[in-house]
Amino acid sequence: MILDTSDRSIAIAAAMLQAGRLVAMPTETVYGLAADASNADAVSRVFAAKGRPTNHPLIVHLPATAKLTQWASHVPDAADHLARAFWPGPLTMVLPRHASVLTAVTGGLGTVALRVPAHPAAQRLLHAFGGGLAAPSANRFGRVSPTTALAVDSELAGAVDAIIDGGPCEVGLESTIIAFVDGEATIVRPGAISPEALARVLGTRPRTAASSSVRAPGTLASHYAPATPLVLCSPDELARRAAFLVARGARVGVLSLERIEAPGVSVALDAGGDMGVLAHWLFSWLRLADKEDLDVLVVAMPPEEGIGLAIADRLRRAAHG
Ligand code: AMP
Ligand code: MG
Repeated sequence: MILDTSDRSIAIAAAMLQAGRLVAMPTETVYGLAADASNADAVSRVFAAKGRPTNHPLIVHLPATAKLTQWASHVPDAADHLARAFWPGPLTMVLPRHASVLTAVTGGLGTVALRVPAHPAAQRLLHAFGGGLAAPSANRFGRVSPTTALAVDSELAGAVDAIIDGGPCEVGLESTIIAFVDGEATIVRPGAISPEALARVLGTRPRTAASSSVRAPGTLASHYAPATPLVLCSPDELARRAAFLVARGARVGVLSLERIEAPGVSVALDAGGDMGVLAHWLFSWLRLADKEDLDVLVVAMPPEEGIGLAIADRLRRAAHG
């Protein structure tokens, strides 16, 4: 069932969640597959619907920061400052779990991932529901996250009880995840909230997972992957790489931040030089590559600053293997 964002539809969706059903909801990052985070049966249905290994923990979405202490046993000052600065918004914080949080939600870890999303429909749904919603991205495990209701439907049709259509997701990439371990902040997954923005609030630049020992379950080398093989290169190389493949008879697509001429390609995608536009469209374009039956998509890597860090991270995982 596809629902709109009317008050009546939100009330229906909240009642379905209270009854242990699964509802896909729009957020400003990507669509989430939501279930009552306090209902073990509902949570197990999320893992089954996605085909996700049960040791990959879920993010719990809360209606407001005030609920934080019901889910985390300890909130460091730094986390409190980040919540004030960035919630509601595309930031997830990993904190020590409250004893009442289900083991299935945390993948057996001593920590829990929490976020207050900003999307108006998600906000209204969370307030109508009242509690925490466990909501991983609404895609089959390992595949590209959906940024439209239509993409959710093509990923999970039949496995989800309702989809709330809130239009395309503004950011288009998953949330930034920051973990607080041993009193130090570590970025586990880059996203729309950049290290620079976090540093302005924290006073120091957070570490990245690569430079620390923080376990980041579910951040696999291969993830967010379309069926179409990707070739990653620098913007300077894009035209030559594409021409080489076109000359061999391949059906080639190109994707870049700035427009680059690539004669003979079947699909040419660019973000007009705007990194936010690239993030917004990236996952739709990866889906398009599959729909267009391309043999290969040649992608020019964006500069790795601001949200470009998150875009490059997703592209590497999409291209892996
Ligand atoms: P998604 O399924 O796309 O919403 O991504 C959820 C991701 O959040 C997981 O794959 C982990 O990378 C991360 N995560 C959730 N809980 C934790 C936790 N307790 N510790 C570290 N990372 C977590
Ligand atoms: Mg995901």
